[in-house]
Amino acid sequence: MALTRRNCMNHPERAAIGICVITQKPICGECATRIDGVNYSKEGLRILQERRNTSRGKVDWKARLFVMALVIAVPFSAALLFQFYEAGLHFMVDMDQMEW
Ligand SMILES: [Zn+2]
Repeated sequence: MALTRRNCMNHPERAAIGICVITQKPICGECATRIDGVNYSKEGLRILQERRNTSRGKVDWKARLFVMALVIAVPFSAALLFQFYEAGLHFMVDMDQMEW
């Protein structure tokens, strides 16, 4: 039995010129978009775009978390420092009031 020739997933009457690297489906010259010597189908390009958006979203989320951490950490550490400073002052006052 002869192997069935692979035809384009969108055009069954056309022979596929390549396989999309994303979807692994055969595609014809019209359906293929060649980027850096690699074939992408329209569906593959869409998936690629979604992946890029997702990874960009993750970076934004991390950056936002970092900014949020800074916003929380800076006043917190400032308040902590102030408390130490105040405690230090009280300690010094107590020392002054102490009778040796
Ligand atoms: Zn096609």
